[in-house]
Amino acid sequence: MQNFPLRVNKIIDHAAKYHPKREIISRDFKGEINHSNWKEIHQNAKKISKSFQKLGIKKGDVIGVMAWNNRRHMELVYSIPGCGAINHTLNPRLFVGQLIYIINHANDKILVIDLDLIPIIEKIIEKCPSVQNVIIMVDEKNMPETSLKNVICYDELLNENDGDFEWVSGSETDACGICYTSGTTGNPKGVVYTHRSNCLHALISGSPDMLSLSSTEKIMPVVPLFHANGWSIGYTAPMMGSSMVLPGNDLSPAALYELLEKGTTITAAVPTVWLLLLNFLEEKKLSFSSLKRVVIGGSACPRAVIEKFQEKYGVDVLHAWGMTEMSPLGTVCSFKPEILKLNKTEKLNIQETTGHPPFTVDLKITNDNGEDLPWDGKSQGKLWSRGGSVVKNYLKNNENLIDNDNWFDTGDVATIDENGYLKITDRSKDVIKSGGEWISSIIIENAAVGHPDVAEAAAIGVFHPKWDERPILVIVAKPNKNPDKESILLEISKHVAKWQVPDDIIFLDEIPHTATGKISKIALRDKLNNDNYKHPEIK
Ligand code: ADP
Repeated sequence: MQNFPLRVNKIIDHAAKYHPKREIISRDFKGEINHSNWKEIHQNAKKISKSFQKLGIKKGDVIGVMAWNNRRHMELVYSIPGCGAINHTLNPRLFVGQLIYIINHANDKILVIDLDLIPIIEKIIEKCPSVQNVIIMVDEKNMPETSLKNVICYDELLNENDGDFEWVSGSETDACGICYTSGTTGNPKGVVYTHRSNCLHALISGSPDMLSLSSTEKIMPVVPLFHANGWSIGYTAPMMGSSMVLPGNDLSPAALYELLEKGTTITAAVPTVWLLLLNFLEEKKLSFSSLKRVVIGGSACPRAVIEKFQEKYGVDVLHAWGMTEMSPLGTVCSFKPEILKLNKTEKLNIQETTGHPPFTVDLKITNDNGEDLPWDGKSQGKLWSRGGSVVKNYLKNNENLIDNDNWFDTGDVATIDENGYLKITDRSKDVIKSGGEWISSIIIENAAVGHPDVAEAAAIGVFHPKWDERPILVIVAKPNKNPDKESILLEISKHVAKWQVPDDIIFLDEIPHTATGKISKIALRDKLNNDNYKHPEIK
């Protein structure tokens, strides 16, 4: 057979040749909705690639991109690797110190940024000596005044050449992208994706038991392209010839709903986004006319969210688990024949798991001695993974992340059932251990948000003289609601054993989050320590 190096630019070549007319809908910085297609994105990507070369970018150079999901960002997904460079996605929600750290650590030569993010870069640019140019993703007419030096308008680059450009060739194991994990401890760590890992990953994540994408689908990634390799949707959608809807910087429920109603068939984001959208739909008495499936991952999806999407709105939920280090897909909860036979409640129980892995992803769970645990849906242990799109080591970091058999410690704690369905019960560092027994903070939190007046919940372990640790629960109530402790504890006691029910509930106006929108248990513990909080039994 022929040798066919897996290079991501072949994906956009394919989309432009075989799916040229598939629509790309994109919200711009003014809130206006623009229309494009794969042919145009391909042409523009070639033009920008050529411009990068003219700016002196060479094979292996790193280009930082701080941008929302929009048309120009999709062009960068291909123009950067197309000239042999590496696409470093920057999360604008990172703390300034972390942004400076990762720009320097990755050695970004050029930054390409959205218009509304200029103030962030103006603040830090002096501390980023490797950056030679800043490109603003805007047309010439709207190019703003800025204190930044060596600034270039994106559309000026687009218009300066004809796009007659051959993608730079290379090996399939060349670096193609970098994404830093949000770093809840220490400095963020860089995960480097190769052309090969991204192609393989797009192939598997588009497959029927995963996202099941095709040319008849229109996918809206609400999950930003800068989170965990953008859940790979920027590669999977054009590979499968799907249409795309890009929400720009307006992630308000009203704006998302407007775009979902533009023929979107599948969408993807973390649970918080969907909690807000479901509240909005309920309040405005709206429903979906084209949406069929919603991918939910990044943190555990509450049962109440799955139930509401399916029962009330007729939209199937695909609960997924993954991590930046895995490109990110690990598992998706689609139904095997054994599950299709079950009744509605039993199916919902299964959907609280994150499902099963695709080809190339391998999983195991072990006890504290490293021995394999049975797949009985009950035994909780350390979760390990390995595969063609799983990390080996972090960028410029000597630590070897895998053992001799390629197993990577995910830092998650999980069970796997007899059908191979994975359920994440905790992150190792967040686990609550009471009298030597693990209590799943995720089960407690999901039960708590099942209470109609609870907006957000976080369970953490606090010191207890007898049990070592006991769970307590931090709650943020829905606006204008005042849930009482008893009714919340009653709701939780329907889902867990008596000894696992939290001993106390604390009401806060806000729970601290990480830059990827997850509850930061570390910051929450710090807050409770600062407030001198102690278990109620400690006098
Ligand atoms: P970060 O840790 O930087 O926020 P990641 O997206 O890489 O970003 O986080 C991966 C982690 O998110 C996983 O290791 C796991 O703890 C958690 N996670 C992802 N999806 C789920 C899920 N469906 N259920 C529970 N936890 C999840």
